[in-house]
Amino acid sequence: MAELADAKVSKTFGITSRVGSIPTIPIYLMKKPEISFDSIPSSAISESRLKICLKCAFDLFIKQLKVAPRTAYLELKKHVPEQSDFSGASTARPHFIDEEGELTHCHYCNGPKRWFAEFRALRIDAHESFEKQRKKLWTALKKDPDRYTLWHPERTQMQIFSEWLERLKRNIDFENDQWLLAVAIEQVKRAAPSNEWDEALAGGVRRIQLSRQAEGGWSYEKGWLYVAPHIYGDVLMVQHLLSRSHSHGGRTFEGRLTLQELIARLRRIGYFDTKNITTRDPYEAFELAIAALVASGPQAVYYAVDRSDYLKQLKSTYEKKRAK
Ligand SMILES: [Zn+2]
Repeated sequence: MAELADAKVSKTFGITSRVGSIPTIPIYLMKKPEISFDSIPSSAISESRLKICLKCAFDLFIKQLKVAPRTAYLELKKHVPEQSDFSGASTARPHFIDEEGELTHCHYCNGPKRWFAEFRALRIDAHESFEKQRKKLWTALKKDPDRYTLWHPERTQMQIFSEWLERLKRNIDFENDQWLLAVAIEQVKRAAPSNEWDEALAGGVRRIQLSRQAEGGWSYEKGWLYVAPHIYGDVLMVQHLLSRSHSHGGRTFEGRLTLQELIARLRRIGYFDTKNITTRDPYEAFELAIAALVASGPQAVYYAVDRSDYLKQLKSTYEKKRAK
């Protein structure tokens, strides 16, 4: 009974009461719980970071636009960078990209690092297998519009696929054969994103092996990943697409193959049968296989831009400015 009464008092004063020796924390002092992205397979999430120099940003408003510091602060609070700033396509002052965090001074104004703040863009490659969880997460993010800005750029599946290839290509060192394995893993993740799969892969993959017995498409054992023909064929396709050049063909797990050799190899492992591709024409088979590959991947992309670090740094910078 005493406990019940306590609970009522605590509620009135906005205090959470916990049994035992744990101290009670007033609700207004409690941090808002972090929104968790854990319901989304980690392989479907990618992150990019964009820095901003707050000295440049304030200077722009105060010195160039001749506004009061407070007005500058209020304007900057609303600021969200464009997608092209994150991609590097049109990153300009006061933004810059410094993924490794190596820069000690702003290369625009030479201001020291303490003026830097960071935006994080979390990209989700949506797949129907976790679309329900994605929607739920978006509903939660929408409730914190100050912190999160949400984008849903219009993209066809083909565009998403091409951009994915481009991103992979940028990070490949073709001199080192390790890229074949890295790309193969990326393709398997792309076609079948799941938390279960991400967990299995945490042990690392040393080799990918074609297996007609792989139940449910793949199995993992002691660093070896066994995959069914339709997955193995997709991997060869992606490796070929990334490395093909007109005269020498593309490099794959099966060696360097011309387009005809690739098609013959795919035919031999039964890849086209698994995709219901019946044409005997190699070029047509290749086109149809690409279409199937594209269709098996993400259907849409979503971005959540997290401004928490930015807002925090902006506020403390402004307060220091005011205290001067
Ligand atoms: Zn600067």
